[in-house]
Amino acid sequence: LFVVFEGGEGAGKSTQLAALAERLRGQGRDVVVTREPGATAVGERIRSLLLGAPGSDGPSPRAEALLYAADRAHHVATVVRPALVRGAVVISDRYVDSSLAYQGAGRTLPVDEVSWLSSWATGGLKPDLVVLLDVDPRTGLARAAARAEAADRLEAESVAFHERVRYAFLDLAAADPKRYLVLDASRPVEEIAGQVAQRIEEMFGT
Ligand code: C5P
Repeated sequence: LFVVFEGGEGAGKSTQLAALAERLRGQGRDVVVTREPGATAVGERIRSLLLGAPGSDGPSPRAEALLYAADRAHHVATVVRPALVRGAVVISDRYVDSSLAYQGAGRTLPVDEVSWLSSWATGGLKPDLVVLLDVDPRTGLARAAARAEAADRLEAESVAFHERVRYAFLDLAAADPKRYLVLDASRPVEEIAGQVAQRIEEMFGT
């Protein structure tokens, strides 16, 4: 089972991801927690190119899209697919939809082209479930800015950028509702965790 958490800045992805992983491990399941960008040694180097020194010039939009695709290609080939093959539950913090939302809608690259690039990078591997933690960018940015490492990077993008990202995620979910669980990230942590757990149990048929 391949589960992906998506959402804007400060949506609480890492908290929810950790809660789900703990729950599933408690049931004795083999769980692999991973993330994009940067889950592998190659990916860490790509991540530092993408999110490098605050204030330094980042890659141009098409170069950025290719770097995310390269990170994803390597991540899928060396982490996600091998884990799925052995029967593990793979839970990833971000995947293809982040590229459609950030590089596509955010940077205004053609979304169909970014989508094609991601399909090529992943060999077409799609998640079984995407948990979208939806948050108003103003709320999310305020939460995320509290983390010092993120503050400079977040300042670089406008609220309009983050709004495009938000609506791109919501559009993706609306286009394929069976594959998505859209949750209001402003709700209490335990409530969200409960909703995620319920959906996963349904998928396991328990
Ligand atoms: O999920 P995390 O906060 O580690 O992501 C780091 C940053 O990378 C995010 O703030 C987001 O702005 C950016 N990102 C992006 N495009 C992606 C994935 C992440 O711009 N495909």
